[in-house]
Amino acid sequence: MPWVDKNECVGCSVCVEECQVDAISLVDEIAEINMDECIRCGSCHEVCPQKAVKHDSERIPREIQANVEKVNGYMKHFDDETEKEACFKRSMNFFKFQKTVAEKTLQQLETLKRE
Ligand code: SF4
Ligand code: SF4
Repeated sequence: MPWVDKNECVGCSVCVEECQVDAISLVDEIAEINMDECIRCGSCHEVCPQKAVKHDSERIPREIQANVEKVNGYMKHFDDETEKEACFKRSMNFFKFQKTVAEKTLQQLETLKRE
């Protein structure tokens, strides 16, 4: 899915004009994509003169870092080692759940593609 790096967008509106489903608007002179409207055509990524529209793959390292920091932050709320461990396990279960949903979704999408 496309996303806009706010540090690189200069608010030129090229992507806004290019988007065929009007999913992009300028908010405080920075492009913002409405993901409920976006049909994943990729045009905004191709036309942006600043290369400010990124692919998901470009945010994997920062997403991982954010997740790790989030879990670390949760655990700091607990002094008791048992509670800390339980919090850690709940967090692990949450990411395992997300992994399962993603894997099963991919499987179903592969089936859909073959039909
Ligand atoms: S084309 Fe690029 S720089 Fe211009 S508004 Fe869109 S994201 Fe920002
Ligand atoms: S990917 Fe296509 S539909 Fe989605 S915001 Fe970009 S131009 Fe619009």
